[in-house]
Amino acid sequence: MSRPAKIFIDLAAVEANYKCAKILAPNSKTIAVVKADAYGHGAIEVAKKLAPLVELFAVSCLEEAIAIRQAGIKQSILLLEGCFSVDEISLAAAQNCQVVVHNQQQINELSSAKVCQPLSVWLKVDTGMHRLGVQPSDVSKAHQALKTCANVKNTRLMSHFSSADIINSKEVVKQLEAFSTCVGTIKDDDIQLSMANSAGILAWPNSHKNWNRPGIMLYGLSPFSECQPQASQLQAAMSFESEVIAMRDVSIGESVGYGDTWVACRPSVVATVAVGYGDGYPRNAKSGTPVFVNNQRAPLAGRVSMDMISIDVTDLQNVNIGDKVELWGKNLGANEVAFWADTIGYELVTRMPTRAKRLFI
Ligand SMILES: *Cc1c(COP(=O)(O)O)cnc(C)c1O
Repeated sequence: MSRPAKIFIDLAAVEANYKCAKILAPNSKTIAVVKADAYGHGAIEVAKKLAPLVELFAVSCLEEAIAIRQAGIKQSILLLEGCFSVDEISLAAAQNCQVVVHNQQQINELSSAKVCQPLSVWLKVDTGMHRLGVQPSDVSKAHQALKTCANVKNTRLMSHFSSADIINSKEVVKQLEAFSTCVGTIKDDDIQLSMANSAGILAWPNSHKNWNRPGIMLYGLSPFSECQPQASQLQAAMSFESEVIAMRDVSIGESVGYGDTWVACRPSVVATVAVGYGDGYPRNAKSGTPVFVNNQRAPLAGRVSMDMISIDVTDLQNVNIGDKVELWGKNLGANEVAFWADTIGYELVTRMPTRAKRLFI
């Protein structure tokens, strides 16, 4: 006996998507991004599944690194925002982490820290995202400072795209140019470089440098809102499911759900599904959002409640209490649901609460 709202995670799909990232960029090494609990897919389970294939994982912060380290992950782990204070640096070194360094303060702290072993450092340059990174004109100086710092084992250069998810974005071209200009200012011909996120891997082959950083594509979601041929090979890893728990006929003029926002304009059949915003289904999904039931799509009818949604199954064959419902997964992409809720698939999968049981298959 258990609440039927459940989240299934297909770890074989994650592995297949990782291999897809490798095949698309055969000359690059791959950093598996498992930050934010592997985008809601379970960082420990995902990291364990990928461990035989991966040489470097990436997370946002030291706490996330320690969580997978304690679960037995032996690989080096990159902290994408670096350390937040000087005492984190010694811990990061002790935990065999690599750190992003994105500003002068982090460079200063790195030189004053006491570490048990020197760290691999990724100097981040701001090529146009304007969020993190040293200015392109400061790269050479920052690189020199890191090169002469006793706590630094080696220094690599990275940057991050602001709009690689927009096919034909001019900004991507500008950022790639700015990045190569930066590389040109550094006196190290063998410096290792990293630029591509999932969108870069999938759609921008000239962004493939020594190391790529796939995140969302590992989980089978496309970073693009449009159809993209490479992204269409990905397999959705998360399947968010529940069941029909009630059925009713609704006459013309009767409403369904809180606020009476959906009103039957024909004699209708409405199914109630045991899932709601308390389980991670977005409350702002509009009437009409597709839901997959009995191999057919049905539109959401009325507001999402905490524990339930209603769907209009008037046009469907044979829907009964106990039928399985897929909110998103292999038959219905999280990105499509996200579109109806004015967000992106990244947010839907990453912000799942722990209420619905997560099961690994
Ligand atoms: C999250 C993140 C990534 C992964 O991005 P996706 O779009 O999920 O592939 C890559 N690089 C950095 C710096 C990130 O923060």
